[in-house]
Amino acid sequence: MTNAAGKVNLLGLTKAQLENFFESIGEKRFRAGQVMKWIHHFGVDNFEAMTNVGKALREKLNQHAYIAGPEIVTQSISEDGTRKWVVRVASGSCVETVYIPQNGRGTLCVSSQAGCALDCSFCSTGKQGFDSDLTAAEIIGQVWIANKSFGTVPAKTDRAITNVVMMGMGEPLLNFDNVVSSMNIMMEDLGYGISKRKVTLSTSGVAPMVDKLGEVTDVALALSLHAPNDELRNKLVPLNKKYPLSVILDACTRYIAKLGDKRYLTVEYTLLKGINDQPEHAEQMIALLQDVPCKINLIPFNPFPHSGYERPSNNAIRRFQDMLHEAGFNVTVRMTRGDDIDAACGQLVGNVNDRTRRSERYIAVRQLEDEKRELSS
Ligand code: SAH
Ligand code: SF4
Repeated sequence: MTNAAGKVNLLGLTKAQLENFFESIGEKRFRAGQVMKWIHHFGVDNFEAMTNVGKALREKLNQHAYIAGPEIVTQSISEDGTRKWVVRVASGSCVETVYIPQNGRGTLCVSSQAGCALDCSFCSTGKQGFDSDLTAAEIIGQVWIANKSFGTVPAKTDRAITNVVMMGMGEPLLNFDNVVSSMNIMMEDLGYGISKRKVTLSTSGVAPMVDKLGEVTDVALALSLHAPNDELRNKLVPLNKKYPLSVILDACTRYIAKLGDKRYLTVEYTLLKGINDQPEHAEQMIALLQDVPCKINLIPFNPFPHSGYERPSNNAIRRFQDMLHEAGFNVTVRMTRGDDIDAACGQLVGNVNDRTRRSERYIAVRQLEDEKRELSS
């Protein structure tokens, strides 16, 4: 990725890509490790700070490269430790990143696209439509920004960010190369050193890309199921018409089998009152997932204006969970966190309420920016 001046943003390059970059400017490949450490471990965004890089090379780097994450629009910290960033990407749109500390873990929820083309009926990102793919620098940039906010070097122990989930805005498998590169940087020692079991890609079911993913990586996989039969899933997740349940579950099962020992699929299921939360749905789900090595994560629906859906009662959620549990499944329910900063969501989606309010706020901000530009021109 080069900018208008033809410079490369080093933030989005994996170790191998950075080595190639150094070679392309006539430098030694080992420089990649040094520079990566400065960027990701120390959060540095200028070459001057790289004290183990000689002056001549620093000047050369300035001519050919730069280091920049997405622009931070807002950063909020909740009383319960949840943090949320709204960042602006190159297209001018904003996406969200959420950090949730829980039970000794720190999970960062990262966005892969601005908007989403897949239009799941209960998702506010889907309602916005597709805007743009994030670059690798914009995806890893969210981790970079969050990590810097803790002011720590990502040592192997005592790290603030222990898990990353690609569960923010967008469908990660439809921005494949950039998502794979950034997940690689998350896992590389000179990046963030996060284990492959703790980097999770969540998909609504782009079956052929799940197979492709299995060829290039071994991160954890989550499938957004949301319905236990094709008729209902066609309505909730329109992509199901292209890749029905049998096709996507086969692809996920192949992916998990390839990972080998003790790995499992996370099945996400957003509970919608009166739609997919009935005992018959739990029964169908038990039959459907019988042979799939999985853990189930129930996400009570996060309402947003004009969604047309409601969150089920706590009793209905409990009843659904109990049925799956009694059938032998490992089932968790995502708790809402960070209410005071509107980071609450099905734990990790970014608060859809806030997203709707936010868009109004952004329209106002943009109008103001336009007016300012008009005045100054
Ligand atoms: N596009 C990917 C990843 C982002 S969405 C996917 O669909 O898997 C992350 C999760 O949040 C998905 O399971 C999604 O279905 C769920 N989700 C979306 N909107 C929601 C809402 N309003 N309430 C609860 N969960 C929601
Ligand atoms: Fe896109 Fe995921 Fe939302 Fe569906 S749930 S519209 S795939 S972001």
